[in-house]
Amino acid sequence: MDFQVVVVGGGPVGVMVASELALAGVKACVLEKRKEITPYSRALTLHPRSLELLDMRGLKEKLENRGGPIPTGHFASLDTRLDFSVLDSASNYTLFIPQNETEEVLEEWAKSLGVDIRREVEVVSVRQHAEGVEVTGVGPEGEFTLQAAYVVGADGAGSTVRKQTGIPFTGTGDTLTAMLGDVVLTELEKPTVLSRYSEQGGTMIVPMNSGLHRVIVVDPERTSVPKSEPVTLEELGASLKKILGTDLGISNPRWLSRFGNATRQAERYREGRIFLAGDAAHIHLPAGGQGLNVGLQEAVNLGWKLAAALKGWAPEWLLDSYHQERMPVNTALLRNTRAQAVLMASDFSQSMGDLRSLLSELLQIPEANRLLAGQISAFNIRYESDPLALAHPLNGSRLRDLKLRTEDGALHQAYEFFHSGSFVLLHFAGDPTIQGADWSRYPHIKPVFASLAEDAADWADVHTALVRPDGYVAWALSRSESEPVESVRQGIARWCGEAGIL
Ligand SMILES: Cc1cc2nc3c(=O)[nH]c(=O)nc-3n(C[C@H](O)[C@H](O)[C@H](O)COP(=O)(O)OP(=O)(O)OC[C@H]3O[C@@H](n4cnc5c(N)ncnc54)[C@H](O)[C@@H]3O)c2cc1C
Repeated sequence: MDFQVVVVGGGPVGVMVASELALAGVKACVLEKRKEITPYSRALTLHPRSLELLDMRGLKEKLENRGGPIPTGHFASLDTRLDFSVLDSASNYTLFIPQNETEEVLEEWAKSLGVDIRREVEVVSVRQHAEGVEVTGVGPEGEFTLQAAYVVGADGAGSTVRKQTGIPFTGTGDTLTAMLGDVVLTELEKPTVLSRYSEQGGTMIVPMNSGLHRVIVVDPERTSVPKSEPVTLEELGASLKKILGTDLGISNPRWLSRFGNATRQAERYREGRIFLAGDAAHIHLPAGGQGLNVGLQEAVNLGWKLAAALKGWAPEWLLDSYHQERMPVNTALLRNTRAQAVLMASDFSQSMGDLRSLLSELLQIPEANRLLAGQISAFNIRYESDPLALAHPLNGSRLRDLKLRTEDGALHQAYEFFHSGSFVLLHFAGDPTIQGADWSRYPHIKPVFASLAEDAADWADVHTALVRPDGYVAWALSRSESEPVESVRQGIARWCGEAGIL
């Protein structure tokens, strides 16, 4: 076996999966066909739940040093923006950061963890057999073959891994396209956010770094142009002029591109020893800025599960839970992007304008904002409760960054305990059996003996909670349960393997 896991594709998702594996002590490599990170940035946004996960790995500050926070997100570019500030989190905003900068931070982290990233290597074939997977690629020194126990296909929309594995990519192709330009707008004196929809078409303009603005244009006369046809500055400028009455002095394009609304999802995210993640598993109109975000969340869902299988303590159901948990999340994602495509790009009539302004008014209702902000931020994700756990309202929910006081009196944020990518056992009841156990026999669990240092009604009755490495509560145990130590023992054995320490 050359590697325990070969990750095909060194985009943000592949690099994140490989880093999660390396954190857990798994020997992983990334095979990437590009020589370097592409300087053109598709994504510009990191959303609240992604920021929380990156915070759990100690990366949020590094990213924030390169990007800028804005308190909102958007749905279908409606005039009423989504107010993320109502979310119960210190990361209740969008971090505006070009994708290439996010990728640089992730790659630096991966390398610091010892991930072997091999560039200029194109994977051409993937075959699985009973003991592992054979990956064939072509690199600067010609063809080579690697053996791995598992393969993750994070090789983007056209995924070779997905095709080689024969997993159908079900959905619809492009029925419309839109244009994008990262350009200088000389008529704008300062960084400006602007959105305009009318019968002439729609545009969204947001500031980027280095004095550029990203201009996105949906021009009803250009939506049937195929994605493969290059965008020219003249074309983009003419459409902008039609919609805004001025082309804003458009010049100096750094990147011009056309993108479409193809919407597809892999029918299975797992086929034996092969897994799909990120754009390899789902594509959609990039509306609301979600693709990179969900891909990172998938990477963090998958990494610890594969590590558990390789370390030998994974419960039988764990690897399948990756598909079971992420497929519904992305089915909902495709639903919201299809709805946004209709609102943003299918119809520019007066009636559609009326519908957009009506929805915009509805979004001013706090509950409506909460619903859509929950979807776009990924705060509405809750995984199925552990069916064998004692019932508790926190089971399956996202852990927020609770303020805790540990036994030595020190104050901590809960996310600090997730930097090493292990499970975190939050124990609040001071039970001597639990506190005195030999936790070193469970290297994949970090025990934290603490009390709440904030008013957190939903956590007030918790005796002990096991939180997964991706920050979701595996189970929480109420102080009113009659045999708490036995319940903790069983709960740990169900998720992390039996070690006989309790
Ligand atoms: C215009 C536009 C704007 C967007 N804006 C946002 C946004 O604001 N927010 C957001 O969250 N998302 C956004 N997205 C989506 C986001 O860019 C993608 O979802 C994200 O890049 C997916 O990451 P990935 O790692 O899965 O795939 P990719 O980034 O596509 O990476 C896949 C990698 O695999 C490599 N590869 C492919 N085949 C092989 C092979 N056979 N062998 C070796 N390597 C291979 C590729 O070279 C590539 O580097 C946007 C997308 C577009 C098009």
